[in-house]
Amino acid sequence: MEQMQQFLEWIEESDNIVFFGGAGVSTESGIPDFRSVDGLYNQEYDYPPETILSHSFYLKNEPEFYRFYRKKMLCLDAKPNAAHRMLAKLEEAGKLKAVITQNIDGLHQAAGSKEVLELHGSVHRNYCQRCQKLFDARYILNSEGCPTCDACGGDVKPDVVLYEEGLDDYTMRKSIQYIANADILIIGGTSLAVYPAAGLIDYYRGNKLVLINTSTTPMDSRANLRIEGKIGEVLSQIKL
Ligand code: NAD
Repeated sequence: MEQMQQFLEWIEESDNIVFFGGAGVSTESGIPDFRSVDGLYNQEYDYPPETILSHSFYLKNEPEFYRFYRKKMLCLDAKPNAAHRMLAKLEEAGKLKAVITQNIDGLHQAAGSKEVLELHGSVHRNYCQRCQKLFDARYILNSEGCPTCDACGGDVKPDVVLYEEGLDDYTMRKSIQYIANADILIIGGTSLAVYPAAGLIDYYRGNKLVLINTSTTPMDSRANLRIEGKIGEVLSQIKL
């Protein structure tokens, strides 16, 4: 395949690659995304996932929020797949500068990636809203109803950016910096439908924008190379 050949050549020549990804990066680890056929949008729930994972829903209906969150967002036994592992290897080889992710599952770090910018936070950090005590994800999984702090009794909230909440300024600025200075920008496993994250594509100034996805996205025409396929399978073809 011609695109694949071109992609592999670009990767071989570059030492300034930046990766920007979404839920599709973790589907090969068994974590469902939102918009694929097997995604959470197509499963039976009283509300769409973006409603349940919104700030106003959390305030109004905390027990239901946590029921969904524990069942669908806390996939704590999932392991990094070939995509996570290759991105970590590219960084170790000095070729990749950063992974910018919309995922909250921590699988890039589990694979060994060091510079990971988590635009939407992480299920692995949970803070007491009263005394700021930090809890791990198992604490939330093993709690019932609304999790509370074992030290002061305050509400414990995941450090995850809910819909209607703002993104962390520092993470956003750092992501823009990496993308603006990147030689190659690989965007993979994201529908590019969730803003402001999807708008990051606008900061790329180069001519090696690679989009890897199993289906089309609204930004396909912006890509210099579009590779249709599973991201783990595509990235495993890179030889280091
Ligand atoms: P999305 O569900 O909107 O889109 C996923 C995209 O990935 C789709 O375009 C789909 O075609 C593609 N895809 C699925 N499997 C793929 C694969 N193996 N290889 C290549 N492409 C594949 O996800 P999004 O764009 O990240 O936006 C949804 C929001 O949901 C994000 O904000 C994210 O934080 C959150 N989310 C995170 C997780 C997670 O942490 N693993 C899981 C579900 C949702």
